[in-house]
Amino acid sequence: MAVSKFHPVEAIREAYSAGQRIFGESYVGELVAKYEALPKDIEWHFIGHLQRNKVRSIVPFVSLIHSVDSLRLVDEIEKQAAKIDRVVDVLIELHIAQESSKTGLSLDECTSLLEEYRKGSFPHVRVCGLMMMGSNVDDEEQIEGEFRCAAEYFDYVKGRFFADEESFCERSWGMSDDYHLALRQRSTLIRLGTRLFGARQ
Ligand SMILES: *Cc1c(COP(=O)(O)O)cnc(C)c1O
Repeated sequence: MAVSKFHPVEAIREAYSAGQRIFGESYVGELVAKYEALPKDIEWHFIGHLQRNKVRSIVPFVSLIHSVDSLRLVDEIEKQAAKIDRVVDVLIELHIAQESSKTGLSLDECTSLLEEYRKGSFPHVRVCGLMMMGSNVDDEEQIEGEFRCAAEYFDYVKGRFFADEESFCERSWGMSDDYHLALRQRSTLIRLGTRLFGARQ
């Protein structure tokens, strides 16, 4: 996926002309503006922290929300998606990195959320996998260890909650500086910004 946040519409058009179709954005206002300005066969992914009061603006068109981190957010997506009779695909965001600045759920919190998701009724929210960010450090062993932890936890979750669901298949990890490590740890979706577009303004 091409992470286009902070890059102008022209940069996205250029990548689009070269064949890129999946773009990721972190801010709702920016995502909506770009969605309106650009071709409709783009698959837009939302990768930033999502506030519940902003869910309604992206639910009509977003292809995948990577950053679900609470049952209240799942509830709100369900509510808004039901209104327009759409099923929205989401990933649950994990926090495995050491840094406290990173968002997402601990593995225990994620397991609890999925237990609740399974008990409840969310016909308009489809959980398709997990997302996480590696620590922002130089130690590649540490980063790869975090991706490995996420990959092993994915197998656990798959077996326990989604054994019969082929749609639970996405492992969203790896960015410009660590995607080579993420691919070794079975990432299915790398999120590249700087590597494709240069430094963000
Ligand atoms: C900005 C961002 C990226 C892209 O980061 P780069 O280092 O520029 O590739 C990937 N994932 C998330 C969640 C981001 O916010």
